[in-house]
Amino acid sequence: MIKISNLKKVVIGFRKIVKILIILVIAAVLILGIIKVTYKQTYSVSLNGEIIGYTNDKVALQKRINDYINTGNGDNVAFVEVKEMPEYKACLLKNGIETNDEEIFDKVTSSGTTYYKYYAITEDEDEKAYVKTFTDAESAVNQLKEKKSTNSEELGIIEKYSTEQAEYKSVETCVSELYQEKKVQVASIPTAGYTGPSVKTSLGISLVKPISGTISSRFGNRSRDNHKGLDIAAPKGTAIKAAASGTVIFSGYGANGNGYSGYGYTVAIKSNSSVTILYAHCSSLYVKSGQTVSQGQVIAAVGSTGISTGNHLHFEIRVNGRAVDPQNYIY
Ligand SMILES: [Zn+2]
Repeated sequence: MIKISNLKKVVIGFRKIVKILIILVIAAVLILGIIKVTYKQTYSVSLNGEIIGYTNDKVALQKRINDYINTGNGDNVAFVEVKEMPEYKACLLKNGIETNDEEIFDKVTSSGTTYYKYYAITEDEDEKAYVKTFTDAESAVNQLKEKKSTNSEELGIIEKYSTEQAEYKSVETCVSELYQEKKVQVASIPTAGYTGPSVKTSLGISLVKPISGTISSRFGNRSRDNHKGLDIAAPKGTAIKAAASGTVIFSGYGANGNGYSGYGYTVAIKSNSSVTILYAHCSSLYVKSGQTVSQGQVIAAVGSTGISTGNHLHFEIRVNGRAVDPQNYIY
């Protein structure tokens, strides 16, 4: 009997333990459930010992920050030098409190020194203009070469690293600025010596119009220079006739060496001992130096070579080396 009652006691005791265990498990599940609803697993991020925010996706944020610091943004940030890297710690964050990956990213990247990468277009090793990409720099230089800018040979590109951004220019701006710079110099080089008030002297020859077209710029002072000829706009390829007969004394591309810098493809014809007529910015030349041409003979085709903004003929008459107004004689 004693044995049986002892066994009963053991069974009753065991049941009690099981009941308590079940209650404990339920309680644990409930508590965990409450924690899960109230809190979420996150990481606190600190920089220089100070918590700057929280993130859910540590791996992604870390990768984004590291990529930016090491390789820049693919635009013109080259890299960022930071003194301290951020530290991440697992933590529970109350639901409803926002994570702020964006803010963390900004704080970390702005805490360091940003190095920018860009390109300088150089002329004779002087930095003339800055662009964001190598492609832009290359394209500007190529365009200047294509336009036979007189500084083409001196142009270069260098990669720049700096903690300060430069003023970046568009390809078009670079091309026009680097080109115009030469224009200012050019205007004073070949023209010095034969400027001055237009004196109406007799040419001793009669002229015919080299082309028909619209006068786009007259002889004399204009905003950017003292214009030595008469500009007549016409489509590219329009035949240019010799205004007077004579001997071709120059036929080629104008450059500093030959005194026609900026004129592009040019024909110069000496009509008598004092009169020389220039036909500039041509697209093609049909006569050679030393050749005799007759009045009205087609000598070249209209173009926009040299320092020119559009297709036109620059028609220039020089009497004893001094440019005179062609409209005193024709047009
Ligand atoms: Zn002109």
